[in-house]
Amino acid sequence: MTSIAVKTRNGVTRARYRPTWADVDLKALEHNYIQVKRLAGKDVQMMAVVKANAYGHGTVEVSQVLEGMGVNYLGVATTDEAVRLRDHGIKTPILILGSVLPEEVKIAKDRDITLTLCSHEILKEIKALAKNEERGTKIKVHIKVDTGMGRIGVWHEDALDFVKEAAAEKSVMLEGIYTHFSSAGRDEFFTDYQMESFERFLTSIEKNWIKIPLRHAANSIATVDYKRAHLNLARPGLIIYGMYPKHTFPKLIKLKPVLSLKTRVVFLKDIPPGRSISYGRTFISQRHTKIATLPIGYADGYHRGLSNKAEVLIRGQYAPVVGKITMDQTMIDVGHIRGVKIGDEVVLIGKQGRHEIHIEKLARLAGTIAYDFICGISNRVPRIYNR
Ligand SMILES: *Cc1c(COP(=O)(O)O)cnc(C)c1O
Repeated sequence: MTSIAVKTRNGVTRARYRPTWADVDLKALEHNYIQVKRLAGKDVQMMAVVKANAYGHGTVEVSQVLEGMGVNYLGVATTDEAVRLRDHGIKTPILILGSVLPEEVKIAKDRDITLTLCSHEILKEIKALAKNEERGTKIKVHIKVDTGMGRIGVWHEDALDFVKEAAAEKSVMLEGIYTHFSSAGRDEFFTDYQMESFERFLTSIEKNWIKIPLRHAANSIATVDYKRAHLNLARPGLIIYGMYPKHTFPKLIKLKPVLSLKTRVVFLKDIPPGRSISYGRTFISQRHTKIATLPIGYADGYHRGLSNKAEVLIRGQYAPVVGKITMDQTMIDVGHIRGVKIGDEVVLIGKQGRHEIHIEKLARLAGTIAYDFICGISNRVPRIYNR
């Protein structure tokens, strides 16, 4: 069996023997970025969200491509994600979208990482740090305003006082201000309410002569379908990776899926009628058939909710998953497909021949969303980068 060569950090290629992998198409990533940028227009800067290992695509590789394309900002969830990008030579500004603990402020300052500011604890820590360091120390922040997400952020009614306090602080470089939608694309009324609250708040800041250069609110859904939220920076994640957050969006923007999930048949056997397949015996063969075993399971992120529901592509045809998906192995019925052999390539997400399996549909089958599905593809699956 051929092994898959995987480039590691120091450029050494290491063999991976298990034939289960994810192809990451960096050309498709470039295509999506260009489409998103074109749609937003030249007056809107771009912050590509690369949190959670760039939605499972590999944060370093994805960020390198986006940096090469001139992305204005990168959005991550945690300090560790931001530091990792700096360690790999990424120079683009990085915003941590989550709220950090005071002890993380120093490393953010040292590595030129922008913090989300929405608590007095962090503001206090910034002041304290500046006092201990040389004069002129400044920490870049974006203030997060809660207009109805109910997660981190200062409630919009209280935010003006907080902004005034931060703006008066010399050690704070108040570069941005933002909010986040809870129901974009699902609840027009509430999204309008959030946007109005944020706009009203931005006006009150201006009336107080406080200048904040970057103002942002748009996630993927709002970037595609709610221009009013573009302000001067958009903050998309999902669409950059070629997934559609709404089934109506293919009419509005043409994206290409970046990630494909593939494996190979490792075992085949003939099954007479009446045999049960996998844990719990949820599948019983009705006829003479052929069952192939695939070396992929829910520990790889092939969601257990797909048991007896999903189909895969083999020899250009669909084959159903039969029985429960197990931790490391999955069975498919290939009785209707001629000439299946051990070693045949199987596509679980992506194209084979004339057919394609979309992650949005798989996620729905599994009772979840594309976000959850794509982030669930685990570290055990090597990512192979193609240009
Ligand atoms: C994850 C995230 C985004 C990106 O959301 P998508 O729906 O993937 O575009 C934007 N802003 C914040 C604050 C986020 O946490």
